[in-house]
Amino acid sequence: MASPLSPDRLIAILRAEGVKISEYPGWRTRERDDETGKPFGPVHMILNHHTASRNSRDIVARDGVAGLPGPLAHIHLAKDGIATLCSAGRTNHAGLMAKNAYNSFLNEASTHPAPSKASGTVDGNDVAYGIETENLGDNKDPYTRAQYDAWVRINTAICREYDWSEQSCGCHKETSVEGKVDPRGPVEGYGTRGRFDYTPKQFRADVAERLKHPASWSPPTSAPAPKPKPPTTEERLTALEKRVTALEKRS
Ligand SMILES: [Zn+2]
Repeated sequence: MASPLSPDRLIAILRAEGVKISEYPGWRTRERDDETGKPFGPVHMILNHHTASRNSRDIVARDGVAGLPGPLAHIHLAKDGIATLCSAGRTNHAGLMAKNAYNSFLNEASTHPAPSKASGTVDGNDVAYGIETENLGDNKDPYTRAQYDAWVRINTAICREYDWSEQSCGCHKETSVEGKVDPRGPVEGYGTRGRFDYTPKQFRADVAERLKHPASWSPPTSAPAPKPKPPTTEERLTALEKRVTALEKRS
């Protein structure tokens, strides 16, 4: 039974995975369960978003937006890679998910169909952890290295805890029946990789790679240094000559 994690457990698994965290004041008891009468869980997937705004921490963690009360995610992920814990209960992030898309994440299928409203809908806020990553979403604003690295760590920590595969990590644009486009945009880099565009497929591949390692693992950030070349005969002779000269001076 995939019960939602307690606040303490959520903190513990994120710390173990090397995520730098911040606790938003009041986050442990701020949720939408009581207000809606719909308890959060059982949980079956993670849904990733971009905020489409700057300085979005208060909005996501507490304030919400017109017509959509906060909290708007379980975790807000800032540009500096700090993950702010916003809620351990029900949050307003997912909206309605297309049933065909949701089922593909629930069953951890290797591919995920385009969301079709005709297949029916599921209330995503019942079943999904939500991560809101700060980015303008204009396809120009980059996700920083620290941010992307933390994003992979957060998703992996939750998958590891529930024994899920990377195929439980979805993106809002993969489930939305309202034409959401998040997340999208350039990423500064990850591991040994330079700039690339965010794609759900690459993101899941990065989570899959991380899941093969212990939680304490960090991806290598540069190619291993090339082996030093052995000295040439000429270099060896020069070194020898210097030693001989030094010995001669001493005697
Ligand atoms: Zn979204």
